[in-house]
Amino acid sequence: MLRPIRKTDCAAALNATQKMIQGFSLWLCKPKSSGATLNKAKIDRLMQTPYESLWLWNFLNSTKEGKTHLERAQHLADLPTDKKRHLKKWIIASTNVEAYFDLIPTGKKIPITLPFAQYTDGDIHWKNLKDLMEAFYIKGLKEGLAYQPNGTAATNKKEALNYHAFRDSFIALHQKDRHEYAREICVICNGELRNVSVDHWIAKAAYPLLSVCANNLVPICSECNQSPNKGAKSVHTDGSFEDWFHPHLRHPDGTLNITYEPTKFGVVLTSTRPSDTKRVENLNTLFNLEQRWTREFKGEYRKLYNSILTRHRKTGQELTLKALCQQIDFWADGLTIGQPHFEVHKALADSLRDANRLMVWHTDLIKEL
Ligand SMILES: [Zn+2]
Repeated sequence: MLRPIRKTDCAAALNATQKMIQGFSLWLCKPKSSGATLNKAKIDRLMQTPYESLWLWNFLNSTKEGKTHLERAQHLADLPTDKKRHLKKWIIASTNVEAYFDLIPTGKKIPITLPFAQYTDGDIHWKNLKDLMEAFYIKGLKEGLAYQPNGTAATNKKEALNYHAFRDSFIALHQKDRHEYAREICVICNGELRNVSVDHWIAKAAYPLLSVCANNLVPICSECNQSPNKGAKSVHTDGSFEDWFHPHLRHPDGTLNITYEPTKFGVVLTSTRPSDTKRVENLNTLFNLEQRWTREFKGEYRKLYNSILTRHRKTGQELTLKALCQQIDFWADGLTIGQPHFEVHKALADSLRDANRLMVWHTDLIKEL
């Protein structure tokens, strides 16, 4: 979040799929829709092109846990009118995410109760909805959508955007150093992008209609994505997003800073906008950023300390204060923004250039030589 996060051009294919999902799910909620009328001919009429229709029909006829997605859709289409009315309202409220990120607070909240919570048989309907909608990501995106990266309908599977193409284009877009040997960088922690996985910013388990929503997908490192960091934590407070950043809809836009705070013996995350204090706090809690960055800060400090000791032991030269300053400058001048944890290492460089700290450090090094 320290640097801008952008959507890739192929987000157009995700947007087109989101439109398909929304249109199809709202059709299921229509009073006249029924399981019996949900057939290939109906799909042909609902879809714009033959490939979209073929793709959706094949998708619906695939199975999970011995049940086709068509059966799940038919179950929903056969719900009584009152349940369909609740579902329609919930679908609209849970997918219109942009509405919750207005610049001027509106007090609008995303629903935090499930669409059938008030019904005794609600769990059965919810499972059908959840399994069907999550499959658009788990099966649909993984195997290839019905759309080309630019959002136009594909004519065959080879043209279609899939999980790997989306993930790779996002990673490439956010690399400062595009060389093939360069380490890839996580857009959240700015560390190395190891074991990348696509995070659903708003959890798809609770909001499955956002499973392929372009605004909701962020490829990040596994350490950021898993517990005890983001894991299954919420990114809203009882449905309100006011106190939260969002990678696409409310980015800090370069207002975050990380510095070393001697009284805390660690790295702290702050914002130049006082009004964002709570959002910074929530972002830090969500990913345990200060704790993780402090670990990196101390590790890099130790590495630099040892390299200075090693060099002077080998050469036998006196380690003057001036020589120490020169070595810190040499190391700091070599830091480049395209490298993982550039901002943490920059915070270390700034803290080491503090005159008092430099004197203490120099004394410690002399003792060890
Ligand atoms: Zn990360």
